[in-house]
Amino acid sequence: MKTKRINFSKFSSIKIGQELDVNVLESCEDYKKEFHLIGSCNNVLIGDNPPPLMILSKKFDYIRVEDDKLVVGGATPSGKIASFCKKNNIKNFEFLSHLPGTLGGLVFMNAGLKEYEIFNNLLTLKTCDGTKQKDEVEFGYRYTNITSPILEATFSLEYGFNREKVELFKKMRSNQPSTPSAGSCFKNPVGDYAGRLIETVGLKGKRVGGMEFSSQHANFLVNHGDGNFKDAIYLIKEAQKRVKEEFGIELECEIDILNID
Ligand SMILES: Cc1cc2nc3c(=O)[nH]c(=O)nc-3n(C[C@H](O)[C@H](O)[C@H](O)COP(=O)(O)OP(=O)(O)OC[C@H]3O[C@@H](n4cnc5c(N)ncnc54)[C@H](O)[C@@H]3O)c2cc1C
Repeated sequence: MKTKRINFSKFSSIKIGQELDVNVLESCEDYKKEFHLIGSCNNVLIGDNPPPLMILSKKFDYIRVEDDKLVVGGATPSGKIASFCKKNNIKNFEFLSHLPGTLGGLVFMNAGLKEYEIFNNLLTLKTCDGTKQKDEVEFGYRYTNITSPILEATFSLEYGFNREKVELFKKMRSNQPSTPSAGSCFKNPVGDYAGRLIETVGLKGKRVGGMEFSSQHANFLVNHGDGNFKDAIYLIKEAQKRVKEEFGIELECEIDILNID
């Protein structure tokens, strides 16, 4: 099987991790259950002892219109999907303009912004478990029950790209820090905001080593340059402990922590 050497302190959006050999999935024959799939690592925290990792090969990086559908490969970056839609006057994917990831990661997390989510216009998924219709998959807020590598997705096709929406999404992001992070650290609990809870328990702006719950937006765990896994985990556990003690709420990580304890 092919492998690819990746330096996760450069590749991951939170800039944490060592240099590792990652298995490359060319076909489902390469896949083993113990491999953990990664996309472009915008929502993962690589630990000091990660499980064996696997990434889709570049052959899954494609996007095309086929009949009345949009067909997108699992390794296609969100920016490429957004540009393709802009160029071809396709609507409903404007929210991807400023949302980093690959199609596989976006679908697995049901990524989105407010009511705009990747599942909204999804029709089918091709995985190593076969092709699934949307109604065969459980999905919700930053959640799916997918357990197999996502190779491709098809979406309904509607014309009318909306530039104003791109501006709106850009504005919605203006309160997010530009310092490296993995996006939102925790999922928002029902009826509340993780950022508000972190702030209330006194952790907004709390820094340990190079890691900090951003003073700009408390639910962003940012890396000031020399942050490491140990400091990130310390802050995550501290937030979960304090929020549980004060509010009885279990903060669930949105970030996928890849480490074998
Ligand atoms: C600055 C910033 C802002 C962000 N804002 C948002 C936001 O507004 N909304 C939002 O939803 N997210 C946001 N995120 C998080 C991130 O953009 C999304 O979670 C995105 O879907 C991650 O895609 P990825 O390819 O990088 O996946 P990764 O981070 O590599 O992986 C994420 C998860 O998907 C799984 N996965 C990846 N590829 C596959 C595949 N082919 N098959 C099966 N499973 C797979 C991984 O196992 C992992 O569990 C933000 C991140 C950053 C850094």
